[in-house]
Amino acid sequence: MMSKKKKTLVTVASVIMVIATVLGCVVIAQKIPADSVKTTGTTAGSPTTTATTTQSTTTTTTTTTTTTTTTTTTTTTAKPTTTKKKTTTTKKKTTTTAKEEKITTTKYTTTQVYNPDRKAYLESIKGNKKLIALTFDDGPTNNYTVKLLDNLDKYNARVTFFVVGDRVSKYSSTLNRAYKMGNEIGSHTYSHKDLAQLKPAELQKQIEKTNEEVKKVIGVYPSLMRPPYGSYNNTVKSAAGVPIIMWNIDTLDWKHRDKNKVCQNIVKNAHDGAIVLMHDLYGSTVDGAIMAMDKLQHEGYAFVTVSELAYLKGKTLEPGKVYNSIK
Ligand SMILES: [Zn+2]
Repeated sequence: MMSKKKKTLVTVASVIMVIATVLGCVVIAQKIPADSVKTTGTTAGSPTTTATTTQSTTTTTTTTTTTTTTTTTTTTTAKPTTTKKKTTTTKKKTTTTAKEEKITTTKYTTTQVYNPDRKAYLESIKGNKKLIALTFDDGPTNNYTVKLLDNLDKYNARVTFFVVGDRVSKYSSTLNRAYKMGNEIGSHTYSHKDLAQLKPAELQKQIEKTNEEVKKVIGVYPSLMRPPYGSYNNTVKSAAGVPIIMWNIDTLDWKHRDKNKVCQNIVKNAHDGAIVLMHDLYGSTVDGAIMAMDKLQHEGYAFVTVSELAYLKGKTLEPGKVYNSIK
């Protein structure tokens, strides 16, 4: 019975070898005989070993394309410690590749200018509306951001959020909804530090960690950046990778927490091409912003994202450049 089994196995093995050679997998074909000869030779009659041989043959057949994987596995068995080190190196390598990729992908591209669903609307207001970009920092949050999103359609409005990286995963559903609606997602970096005070490595971390967090949720990197406290220097500018967006209307919403004052500050100072600074951390801010949209829409204003504003004004925003308004 055993010899019958063995015969069958030998036949299976040779058939596989033929297939492998036919497929042109020279490396694999050379490897199989070396391994199987060794095993079969040492423990000839043992059914357990025969079983192992069969298993390894099957594995090799499946791994026609994964020659590299097989090789790595062999190394692991021989030197576990070295393999550990090796794995770390591979990880490091991956990060480097990701970094290289990021430098090219975080750059401002025209595909991020506006959500395709907004195209018809944007064309319809081109040249006949005053434009204003409402921007919200320090979020996302659940209740306030969500209330704002719930009220945007009423005014055909889309806004820009400068999100804090360490809040992104916690409020991912809100962020995702905001993005899918056609709002613009910018970076406010990772943990709201004064970027101008940071060492280059820390600065890079603040930017990159946020980029990755945002991409994990919405599938793309933030298209813009606003440094916390509006604080930047030349190093920040060169590290940003995207346009830096400041503001020219400050609602001071964080200070007074009064919806009427938020509304007044916007309405009183509103002008074509303005960028308004707010924070979606407060109910008073969201209520004030909604009140302001209600008033301004009767004054011929349209509420657009920063990139939509640039598009409608025929301006191309450039990475590392600072914008307070777009006229
Ligand atoms: Zn902030």
